[in-house]
Amino acid sequence: MANEKIPYKIYLEENEMPKAWYNVRADMKKKPAPLLNPGTLEPMKAEELAPVFCEELIAQELDNDTAYVEIPQEIRDFYKMYRPSPLVRAYCLEEKLGTPAKIYYKFEGNNTSGSHKLNSAIAQAYYAKKQGLKGVTTETGAGQWGTALSMACAYLGLDCKVYMVKVSYEQKPFRREVMRTYGASVVPSPSMDTNIGRKINAEHPGTGGSLGCAISEAVEVATSTPGYRYVLGSVLNQVLLHQSVIGLEAKAAMDKYGIKPDMIIGCAGGGSNLGGLISPFMGEKLRGENDYRIIAVEPASCPSFTRGVYAYDFCDTGMVCPLAKMYTLGCDFIPAPNHAGGLRYHGMSSILSELYDQGLMEARSVKQTDVFEAAEYFARCEGILPAPESSHAIRVAIDEALKCKETGEEKTILFGLTGTGYFDMVAYEKYNDGIMDDYIPTDEELAKYREKLPKVDK
Ligand SMILES: *Cc1c(COP(=O)(O)O)cnc(C)c1O
Repeated sequence: MANEKIPYKIYLEENEMPKAWYNVRADMKKKPAPLLNPGTLEPMKAEELAPVFCEELIAQELDNDTAYVEIPQEIRDFYKMYRPSPLVRAYCLEEKLGTPAKIYYKFEGNNTSGSHKLNSAIAQAYYAKKQGLKGVTTETGAGQWGTALSMACAYLGLDCKVYMVKVSYEQKPFRREVMRTYGASVVPSPSMDTNIGRKINAEHPGTGGSLGCAISEAVEVATSTPGYRYVLGSVLNQVLLHQSVIGLEAKAAMDKYGIKPDMIIGCAGGGSNLGGLISPFMGEKLRGENDYRIIAVEPASCPSFTRGVYAYDFCDTGMVCPLAKMYTLGCDFIPAPNHAGGLRYHGMSSILSELYDQGLMEARSVKQTDVFEAAEYFARCEGILPAPESSHAIRVAIDEALKCKETGEEKTILFGLTGTGYFDMVAYEKYNDGIMDDYIPTDEELAKYREKLPKVDK
């Protein structure tokens, strides 16, 4: 039943939207490992991060202790255009599966950018504007983050330069045009505008690029252009902080009706939606107030949690970013083309990596065709056409609901439905035509990248 002692309640507005983000690090006894300076291997200080990131965001990045960070009124006003996001009971899915499980999903695709990424984009753009910057640079893979950031920048009147992984740039012209419609400039990466882009193009002629490479380009441009900083849509602690709005809303709604999820499931690329969805629940778990099973779902083609190692690694291919301790496949790992573009990152949030290492959450990897099977099953009964990324969570939610059918257990499942798949119809087309493949890297391949991890004894 609803718990009167829950501290976050005092941070809810009358419409049950959070007035503060929740920082799960405050309740972690063992904190996530700090970012390291790749030269000295000492923890990065705020002043070292300042040429790359906005000041206020650096403070949030490094703050392991403040549990609640007030959401500035301007950001709350923006959130009100599309939040609270719906928390839906999947009655039709339950019925079609014939499961005694109760399935709920929190749907983040209800805005033009089509995913949860807008929650952090508006926050990051706000702090850039507040610092008096002219603009921001970023990378985008599948295009969701770039779209979200373009919307936020348009709203606040900031310039936005997006380095878009070349294969996506070519395959997803509509995403690209949405970004340009919101005023962003979009450059295919690797480009010839940056040192790192020229180097990668020379070494790998004709390459389709990767997220790690686009990050290096965006960072280079931000640090060499006055009045610009770099912003990142996932992985970082600050992004998980902003995304806690998802979990806070979900928890407020569930508490109101006296519902406690047994299991919380989310897809994990860099870990931001899952980190955000689970944060208040994980807080209770860390404080010993409640227990929840938490499952991260990743593609079998890019299995950072399930087959990666917990080690310090670069966040980008050009090795210009700080080192982060995370479950990683190695920063040179370029996953086989997978239609869940947002899940193709080689590493994982340091917060989630530490929680996983402590055994506080589980991880599972799923094959692409199984994911699309679940996506279509879901679309046909619940109506929403899900993003391929989100469909990883749907797959495992369905699998768990089917287990309940066997055992007769009436478990309550909550999963994160991070976005819509309208711009992913090429992927759906491949699945419908029966020509989608399931590439799974071999142990030898993974070992090759692992050997190249920086040697850091921490
Ligand atoms: C980017 C993205 C993801 C994965 O990113 P996380 O940081 O792991 O949340 C998942 N779903 C959608 C729709 C996305 O756009």
